[in-house]
Amino acid sequence: MGRYLGPVCRLCRREGTKLFLKGTRCYGEKCAIDRRSYPPGQHGQGRMRTSEYSLQLREKQKLKRIYGLLERQFRGYFMRAERMKGITGENLLALLERRLDNVVYRIGFASSRREARQLVGHGHLLVDGKKVNIPSYLVVVGQTVSIPEKSQTVLPIQKALEGVDGRGVPAWLELDKTRFAGRVKELPTKEDIALPVNEQLVVELYSR
Ligand code: SF4
Repeated sequence: MGRYLGPVCRLCRREGTKLFLKGTRCYGEKCAIDRRSYPPGQHGQGRMRTSEYSLQLREKQKLKRIYGLLERQFRGYFMRAERMKGITGENLLALLERRLDNVVYRIGFASSRREARQLVGHGHLLVDGKKVNIPSYLVVVGQTVSIPEKSQTVLPIQKALEGVDGRGVPAWLELDKTRFAGRVKELPTKEDIALPVNEQLVVELYSR
């Protein structure tokens, strides 16, 4: 499945908010949005569009970019969320959050979702003790996510674990750093996910 390979800080500047796409750099002084908080490109400092459609579109783009998804994949999650019981926007957030690459990032084995996707793709992750190399794999309550012994010396994993205390692990997950293992305690709620996105506008966009 394809994915965006261009400069990621441009995406944050485009959306006018930190999307935390670059790991530790996002938390330091070098963050591009702290230095240049206007959209990239020749017309970046011009007038911003504020139509209802453009606001909805921006929220959708933000969410897609945070999870590193292309339109087709993202729409697939939306359609699945729509078929589920409950509030579509919250279902969508919970589905995206349950992706294995996101869980690996949230639990602290990677400094960004992008890095987490690579780690999963390279076979550094176990789910319930079995290797899973599919970043879109959806975890369920009670599953364990761990790093096999041979991968515990991988530098990005060690660095990410060093920084996890500052970043924190969300309440729906738990981490045992000494065992390189974590567990899905419960499904994520909207409050746990806490992203700078109005998911209701995404629902409105697709309901047009
Ligand atoms: Fe976004 Fe991180 Fe780049 Fe800052 S450093 S603009 S948060 S990707």
